[in-house]
Parts: sequence; C-alpha cells; structure tokens
Amino acid sequence: MASGGGVEEVSNKQVILKDYVSGFPKESDMCLNTSGTIKLKVPEGSNAVLVKNLYLSCDPYMRGRMKQPIPGNETYIEPFKPGSPIVGYGVAKVLDSGHPDFKKGDLIWGITGWEEYSLITETQTLFKIHHTDVPFSYYTGLLGMPGMTAYAGFYEICSPKKGEHVFISAASGAVGQLVGQFAKLLGCYVVGSAGSKEKVDLLKNKFGFNEAFNYKEEPDLHAALKRYFPEGIDIYFENVGGKMLDAVILNMRAHGRIAVCGMISQYNLEHPEGVHNLMTVVWKRVRIEGFMVYEYYHLYQKFLELVLPCIKEGKITYVEDVAEGLESAPAALIGLFTGRNVGKQVVVVARE
Ligand code: NAP
Repeated sequence: MASGGGVEEVSNKQVILKDYVSGFPKESDMCLNTSGTIKLKVPEGSNAVLVKNLYLSCDPYMRGRMKQPIPGNETYIEPFKPGSPIVGYGVAKVLDSGHPDFKKGDLIWGITGWEEYSLITETQTLFKIHHTDVPFSYYTGLLGMPGMTAYAGFYEICSPKKGEHVFISAASGAVGQLVGQFAKLLGCYVVGSAGSKEKVDLLKNKFGFNEAFNYKEEPDLHAALKRYFPEGIDIYFENVGGKMLDAVILNMRAHGRIAVCGMISQYNLEHPEGVHNLMTVVWKRVRIEGFMVYEYYHLYQKFLELVLPCIKEGKITYVEDVAEGLESAPAALIGLFTGRNVGKQVVVVARE
C-alpha cells in the first residue's frame, strides 16, 4: 500500500483476456495479472465511482464478448479488449464517488471489472442495493440480471396462465431455476431438462418441478418430450437452442409460446446449427419471441416487490455455485459451457 499526495494506492489483481477466442474457451485464454495498482480515489471532477469488488457473476453471454468482431456483423454488445480485464456483472462496495447518486459505503450491483478494485465510469449500469438482509451474492443472480431475465422472460414474453404446461431447458441454472419456480407459483405443470443426475434431483426435490430429465441420456429428445408432455407444451423457455429447440417445436401445442432467452449450445460453434421443424410453427400457430433483459430493467422495483417476500417466506429457493478467489474465475466462467456449474456460478473476490 502506497500513499502519494494523500491518495492511497494499492495492488489490484486482474483477470485479463489474452486474445479473442474461437471454439470452446479455455482457462489459458485468460490470465491473472498481479502487478497492477490502483488509486483508491476517483479523479478530480469526474462522476465515476471507485469500488471494491465483492462478487463477480459468470454469465454465458460473456462468451460472445470474447469473439473477434466481424465488420458489418456487429452484435448488441461490444467485444472485450484483449489485454484488458474481463468486464461483467458484479456486486461491489463504493470506496469513493464523484457521482451524486452514490456515496462511500454504498453497495451496488452492475457492470464492473474482473479485478479487486474498479473505477467505474459508466455508472448508468449500476443499481444501488437497498435490501441488505439477503446474501449480497444474490445480486449477481436471483436478485440481479439473471433474476430479472427469468422475470421478464416468463411474465412479459410467455403470457403464462395457470395450469399451462411449461418446459425449461438448462433448468437448474441461474435463470432456469427461477423460471421454473415462477411457473410453479402460478400453478403450471413444469418440466425441466439438465445435464446430470444431480441437477435433475435438484429440479425435482429442491425447486419443486413436476418432472425433470437428463437430456444427455435421451437419444431421442422428441420422444422424451412426448413422454413428459403427452398433450403438448404451452410454454417453452429456451436457454439452449440446437437439437432441443427442434424437438420442442414438434411438441408445441396450438398457440404455444417460445421465449428465446438464449442458445448456449451454439455459443462456441463457428457455424450455428440450423432449425428444421419451423413449418410446425405455422400450423400450430406458435409465437417465438426473443428478448433482452436490459429492456426490462425499469421493472426492477416491481420484480423486487414480488421476489423479496417470496425469498423470506421460503416460497422461492436458490442454489449458487461459489468459486473462491479471483484466480478461480477463468475456470468458473468456462465451466458454464461444460455444465460444471450447479446453480448460479458466482466468484467471491472479497466478502467485505
Ligand atoms: P446457467 O444455466 O447457469 O449455466 C449454463 C448451463 O447451460 C450449464 O450449466 C449447462 O447446464 C448448460 N449448457 C452448457 N452447454 C450446453 C449445451 N451444449 N447444450 C445444452 N445445455 C448446455 O446459465 P444462465 O445464466 O442461467 O443462462 C441461461 C441462458 O440464458 C443462456 O442461454 C444465456 O445466454 C441466457 N440469458 C439471456 C439473457 C437475455 O437477456 N436474453 C440474460 C441472461 C441469460 P447442463 O448441465 O444442464 O447442460
């Protein structure tokens, strides 16, 4: 710790993206830089905030930011900068602030850096944490971006009704576990798919799904879905894409809805798989709609009003997979693409 001109300067470990990634990401695509330092004060006159990072969120969309940009084929979000720290959602404590909405000691969630301390200039992405009687790590998942994704995707896109038949893929993950519980609270029949026996057990015994199956053990996904939905699916919450989507389309009921949240099975492919059964969408009159969570952040307070009491009354439960230390972050992130995570993947940088 050094102190120059009255400003404290400390070492600042960072997780750096070495270069753009193609194919499956590897731990060696990232490295830990232990030689950096940071001043624990925002620059004079700026409206940035200087934070100590507590919890970091590993999210599948981050894979898209590791890709080399193709001119003319830009996506909704900028790529990471090779040689710079990874950027993502996290929970942090404000140490210094030039912004009128944030002050020293506040807890926030939003976009921060994969490092011990961050100077955040894009403060419009930050939410102040007002409810501190839940674990702070929840704001990377259940009470943060993935929670809002489940809420917006289910209530705003799926047009759900009591008694409807709901199918969710990647169902034990950050988003899926919550979608399933929202659907159960509404009185739906809910089935989830996941990639291991442990996850299937969680879905049935912890999250209260009616049924669950391991898609890796089903040679015929169409037949598996027929088994669980003999009368068809009203709502499909799509997290994986690929063969699962094709099989689901064949099993949709007339006027069913598919909320396209993500397609993780496609994120590491150079050439995405095609979808073959789209004609069924026509004669079953199925609505397929994609959405992005950031368009629904204005509903955040409403979401908290629904979810916080449910957590306190034990009506909603939550499973996290917690990796300790910044050095464990690269392995935690790439583990999303092999299903290593059981529940929401979080990285603890510091607990206070
Ligand atoms: P997560 O489910 O916690 O973690 C990813 C899971 O995906 C893995 O644990 C694995 O579970 C499964 N998976 C990985 N590779 C797969 C493959 N090839 N085929 C099938 N399943 C595979 O992740 P999450 O944060 O909840 O995200 C779920 C989905 O929501 C992702 O598609 C993500 O991109 C999307 N999302 C979208 C928005 C939005 O605004 N639209 C916001 C947040 C998230 P198994 O062991 O079960 O295979």
